[in-house]
Amino acid sequence: MSSLTMALIVQKYGGTSVGSIEKIKKVAERVIETCERGNRLVVVLSAMAGQTDALMRLSKEITETPDPRELDVLLATGEQMSVSLFAMAVKSMGYDCRSLLGFQAAIHTDQIYGKARIKKIDTDHILKELDENRIVAVAGFQGIDERRNITTLGRGGSDTTAVALTAALKATVCEIFTDVEGIFSADPNICTHARKLDRISYEEMLELASLGARVLDIRSVEFAKRFNVPIHVRSSFTRDEGTMVVAEKKEMERVLVSGVVSDKNEARITVVKVPDRPGIAFKIFDPVFKAGIVVDMIVQNPSAEGLTDLSFTVTKTQFQETLTLVRGVAQEIGAENVLGDQDIAKVSIVGLGMRNHAGVASKMFETLARENINITMISTSEIKISCIIEEKYTELAVRALHEAFGLGNEKEKD
Ligand code: ASP
Ligand code: MG
Repeated sequence: MSSLTMALIVQKYGGTSVGSIEKIKKVAERVIETCERGNRLVVVLSAMAGQTDALMRLSKEITETPDPRELDVLLATGEQMSVSLFAMAVKSMGYDCRSLLGFQAAIHTDQIYGKARIKKIDTDHILKELDENRIVAVAGFQGIDERRNITTLGRGGSDTTAVALTAALKATVCEIFTDVEGIFSADPNICTHARKLDRISYEEMLELASLGARVLDIRSVEFAKRFNVPIHVRSSFTRDEGTMVVAEKKEMERVLVSGVVSDKNEARITVVKVPDRPGIAFKIFDPVFKAGIVVDMIVQNPSAEGLTDLSFTVTKTQFQETLTLVRGVAQEIGAENVLGDQDIAKVSIVGLGMRNHAGVASKMFETLARENINITMISTSEIKISCIIEEKYTELAVRALHEAFGLGNEKEKD
């Protein structure tokens, strides 16, 4: 078969898929299988499971704040290990393969150590290896900056390497192999009837971040959306088709809701009885934003007698810090009190069909009401509705919504 008629595929295997020598051999077999079906292959690998953490711990034994440049040099060795072992495995099975580190694959990034962004990939070198009939194994998560410093893309960055390579090489698809079968309509640990989705749009995937985060690094989805790269999320351990993450198509809007997600990592802060006058929101949030704290929902009540309550949510991890900051300004702006609540969770439904169908929100509220779950905050976007509820009802809410919108596999019993 001439290389012109062969499809070019990028496959990415995550840390658990290459977590032992046995598993690396299995990945090598699978890659060879794909080649034998008449494809050319570029394989992106993560470090073996736990390796990046182990390297991080080593650096912390020297100092709590390791030099960022040297930390990237160190962390990049995790992927160097896995690609070289993989290439050896493929070669021992009688196929030609070459490993390339980020700089050899010409993955050019900016200069931000630890969270570098890919700027450009010169594909000449990879294409040459492919033309010489080799399988090319590229170390994920790393690149090189203008001054030839090694950079890394941030934790989970190998997905982005794979998507960027797919775009640069104009490959047919980016297959992300992981330890789950795809993207589900809800967390299967909560909903036993959660269904594997055949297809989902980039937009929905971005909104379902918390569902997908363990599966697909969210920055890679943004990248894929920008360059229109189809991603196929699938399991390393089965041959089944997984979920295609693709550009939105007209018929996708027929599905009202694609998935239900919950997030227990939210906490609420309420500023009670603040004088309702210009500049108050600025005074409250300025120190919070300056501290780099991410605020999720914000709700301000209409004022009664010139006083208003303002509530907002942050992650539980940033709760104490935020509370301290807001208590600091409370006196200055004359607020009566600042209250905090960590026993909350956010449940959200996501779907493209929401854009053209009324009644999705009311069905969500009705479903929660039927379960006697109180909603304390609501926020909506074009394709997502989120409610803040008491944390202890999270699972109940997810199951009830999953059933109400008919997302399950069979008739749901739970
Ligand atoms: N090895 C890196 C990490 O553990 C990158 C990746 O796995 O995608 O975060
Ligand atoms: Mg990963």
